[in-house]
Amino acid sequence: MPTAKFDLLPSANPTADAIRNDILSNPGFGRYFSDHMVHVRWTVDAGWHGHEVRPYGPLTLDPASAVLHYGQEIFEGIKAYRHADGSVWTFRPEKNAERFRRSARRLALPELDDETFVESLRALLAQDHDWVPTPSGEADECSLYLRPFMVASEAFLGVRPSHEVDYYVIASPAAAYFKGGVAPVSIWLSSNYKRAAPGGTGYAKCGGNYAASLAAQKEAEAQGCGQVAFLDAAENKWIEELGGMNLFFVYHDGRLVTPKLTGTILEGVTRDSVLELARDEGLQPEERHISIDEWREGAASGDITEVFACGTAAVITPVGELVGEDERIRCTEGDNPVARQLRSKLLDLQYGRSEDKHGWLTRLV
Ligand SMILES: *Cc1c(COP(=O)(O)O)cnc(C)c1O
Repeated sequence: MPTAKFDLLPSANPTADAIRNDILSNPGFGRYFSDHMVHVRWTVDAGWHGHEVRPYGPLTLDPASAVLHYGQEIFEGIKAYRHADGSVWTFRPEKNAERFRRSARRLALPELDDETFVESLRALLAQDHDWVPTPSGEADECSLYLRPFMVASEAFLGVRPSHEVDYYVIASPAAAYFKGGVAPVSIWLSSNYKRAAPGGTGYAKCGGNYAASLAAQKEAEAQGCGQVAFLDAAENKWIEELGGMNLFFVYHDGRLVTPKLTGTILEGVTRDSVLELARDEGLQPEERHISIDEWREGAASGDITEVFACGTAAVITPVGELVGEDERIRCTEGDNPVARQLRSKLLDLQYGRSEDKHGWLTRLV
């Protein structure tokens, strides 16, 4: 299929250099947005059409738009990294494109082909490459966070897949996701709530999963925790993942265990990359079921030496302790050497500081 061309409607009042530079010096996460966005429209009759890059700004949605009532929505998260020579790259976008299609199928949304997905990132970056921050040192992990998403926009209150859909990509400059950098986070073990159930939407990256996780997130914050760990819905026994990150367990003998994908866990690109990099590092990755009891006992006996969470936004973040209704499980000894090592391997790759042996980088600008 020939790759679609994106028409350009340039912003009439782009952000002044001085203001943008000010934002880029302290962007936080998800607070500021670049000058343009991608838009592509889909209708049952015409398919995908109207590919454009246009000024960033509010959408006009009919109050009866399906997404506002029934939540028919999916999204992706992927970053653009500036390398030392000024070029801009992204990481394994074909994985995100494929997952976006999987999510679309689950939410009965139309699939966007992988080439158009990647081209849409390139089209946006062609305009807004000045919004990609320049890392100021080896430890600096600033980037431009890209958020492709798709919403059901037909004005119709009946319950069926929307006949009109819009795809957008917006971009937001980002510093480290957690303010503490690689400082370990505390995780709340939810006993009241589940994230996903067999046959549900756990493997899809959809807003509905996040909406359903917010009450648990509120509980976590009340307990002084930054994230929630969810157990499986069927047996309340197996560790699945956090609200927006996958989990890994480091064993003293070099095994690296992550819960296996059974349809209720989001297949993270970072998760997959960590499994690959771990092999390069001489660790023995295992994808299998791991129970909350194994976590408890492993942490107590010293069998499990580190726990970490991973995802595009936060890269790799050590878990310091797991907090439950009436327990606190300490998860780390020392300064999490394995998490740190994998984290710097991954960042070195993404920022072009090491050889891209796996062919994971795609140049955007
Ligand atoms: C996005 C996401 C992840 C991490 O996926 P990456 O591709 O590594 O960013 C993990 N869990 C959930 C629930 C997510 O939505």
